[in-house]
Amino acid sequence: MHPFEGLAEALAEREAAGLYRRRRVIEGAQGPRLHVHGRELLAFCSNDYLGLAGDPRLAEALARGAREMGTGSGAAHLVSGHHRAHHALEEELAAFVGAERALLFSTGYMANLGVIPALLGRGDTVIEDRLNHASLIDGARLSGARLRRWPHGDLAGLQRQLGHASGRVLVAVDAVFSMDGDRAPLGELARLVAQHEAALMIDDAHGFGVLGPLGRGSLAAAGLGFDAVPLYMATLGKALGVAGAFVAGSELLVETLIQRARPYVYTTAMPPALAEATRAALRIAAEEDWRRERLRALTERFRREAAGLGLCLADSDTPIQPLLLGDAATALRWSEALAMRGILVPAIRPPTVPEGSARLRITFSAAHEEADLDHLLEALDSVRREAA
Ligand SMILES: *Cc1c(COP(=O)(O)O)cnc(C)c1O
Repeated sequence: MHPFEGLAEALAEREAAGLYRRRRVIEGAQGPRLHVHGRELLAFCSNDYLGLAGDPRLAEALARGAREMGTGSGAAHLVSGHHRAHHALEEELAAFVGAERALLFSTGYMANLGVIPALLGRGDTVIEDRLNHASLIDGARLSGARLRRWPHGDLAGLQRQLGHASGRVLVAVDAVFSMDGDRAPLGELARLVAQHEAALMIDDAHGFGVLGPLGRGSLAAAGLGFDAVPLYMATLGKALGVAGAFVAGSELLVETLIQRARPYVYTTAMPPALAEATRAALRIAAEEDWRRERLRALTERFRREAAGLGLCLADSDTPIQPLLLGDAATALRWSEALAMRGILVPAIRPPTVPEGSARLRITFSAAHEEADLDHLLEALDSVRREAA
């Protein structure tokens, strides 16, 4: 049968179920004000938490890097693509999170696809929280290890899975859950995992740059070190406003990944100029504490006032503040009603989130002003009245 057989019917079904996805075409730089199809919308949906993606200092570092080092890296890291800029960034990232070594990947998805199969295979076990990011699930699947999941937040469930696990055992978890904004209980997880001679891996895509002193991430925020969590992964395209990802840990871990992680070995190194821009982002993120304070203030005020309006928010203290709406059609309706009021918050629907938990994933950025929050709260209140 031709692989395109049945595709048109599948798309039509998706459309009828309110699950069809479409892209918006954005112009200009990232920031709270986005130009979408010729209209300016106030956006509360990006992962540009520190407001750095459109920062001219990063653009300048990128431009300077490109003038000095060109655009392409030309080859994989193991051939001739590993530039001094990549190497310096790795050393700075390792020092920042307190690890022996760090290794750059081109994207977070590739990091997760690379790490798990480099360490585990058939006969081994990966245990994951049900709400983990797709890339952690796919990394486990690709490894050929047995994949077990525990219901979100249910540590007794994890403990049961640990009791039955065989072979090498890795427990992998989002440190901050991407669609819910809540944080994994890292201290308790580390204790449980240590009792079972397993290892804990955290994906800190939404904590790095945002949580902990200087934005050092979820591990630092929990007061834990690499003895408790030997495998740390974070992305550079969210709070840091650039692109890429890194894995941090011991010398042994990083040297092993360099030999074995296929999405590391068989891909072209990121442009060295991007590494230069990321080095600038890391310095700014650490220095400008006001960005994290602004985020905290916006988040706290939003939660307080949204509760006053009777809105149903998930239990989160991070800049990810999901407004739970239930079915996909309701979430779409709210998103459209907000867009009519000049606000962009796309509906998040299954399969990105479990059936019946469609939502507006509202996120804040340090580039938002108090007046932007006023506007969001007014619009939400008016949509709520209309829906009631
Ligand atoms: C975004 C994200 C990734 C993927 O990172 P990219 O660099 O965008 O590929 C991985 N894990 C989590 C939890 C994420 O939110």
